[in-house]
Amino acid sequence: MFPAEMPRTRFIEIDVQSALTRMGGMRVPGGHWSLNPYRGCQHDCVYCYARYTHTYLELNPTTDFARTLFVKRNLAAALAADLRRPGWRRQRVHIGTATDPYQPAEGHYRLTQAALRLLRQQITPATLVTKNTLALRDADLMAELAEAAGFRLIMSITTLDETLAGQLEPDAPSPQQRLRAVQALAAGGVPVSVAAAPILPGLTDSVEALTALFTAAYDHGAEIAFHQTLRLYGPTRGALFGFLQQHHPELIRPYRAAFGASQDAPMAYRQQMQARIEEIRSRLAPRSPGQARPPRRSGQLALEL
Ligand code: SF4
Repeated sequence: MFPAEMPRTRFIEIDVQSALTRMGGMRVPGGHWSLNPYRGCQHDCVYCYARYTHTYLELNPTTDFARTLFVKRNLAAALAADLRRPGWRRQRVHIGTATDPYQPAEGHYRLTQAALRLLRQQITPATLVTKNTLALRDADLMAELAEAAGFRLIMSITTLDETLAGQLEPDAPSPQQRLRAVQALAAGGVPVSVAAAPILPGLTDSVEALTALFTAAYDHGAEIAFHQTLRLYGPTRGALFGFLQQHHPELIRPYRAAFGASQDAPMAYRQQMQARIEEIRSRLAPRSPGQARPPRRSGQLALEL
């Protein structure tokens, strides 16, 4: 019987032949393998790029992604077999590239925990991306893996605005909860980064908002803070434009103009954001906790991107 607090999710347990998937491309610096214990994600972020994975299963990427969750029940056995294969070179494993490995289901299934334990046993370096404070459960394991082979947890925080976060990431822990988790993980010896990802034009991209977010990240013990601008893959558009229709209809036209021909924001916008982030980082890092300089005044970036 599954915990009663998740009545809206349908869980489908599946077996997989392999736990690791080879990664390629420039977007994964130094990365080699991905590991996703689940398919779908209960956090239901409107901008989630991984929604496309449900289209392969003939499910609706907008309505089913968070509510029909595939659980790789034999993940530990499959990973153990992967790590025993001749030729395995202990390359870095990226956990959570298309799902959150600490979404609520992990509290019951403990697949991510089992994977971390195996990686520690096999002295295999890893990174893990999450929005969920459940990661705290495995802090000791992560610290041991960091010591033995290398490990970094990346906490994804899009905005410190609790209302906006509740609209964008309806079933994820609040930004303040995530920051407290960053603090506790860092105090427990886990290397932690904070990702301002994705940056949403006109919503989370002001100097004030980003300075506050980066300041909070460093103040809570993050060693690194970085960003990524929004990418709008086909199946993600429905969820994002549904959100805009409900909460920010004034942004529909500029988003259509910006992302009409491409999944990426225009190059000029991305360069502007890169410069903005570099300027913020140069003011804030390296810095000691509690010594934040006041943010510069500036409005949101204009959306004629
Ligand atoms: S937490 Fe990550 S994987 Fe889960 S819905 Fe949000 S963006 Fe997607």
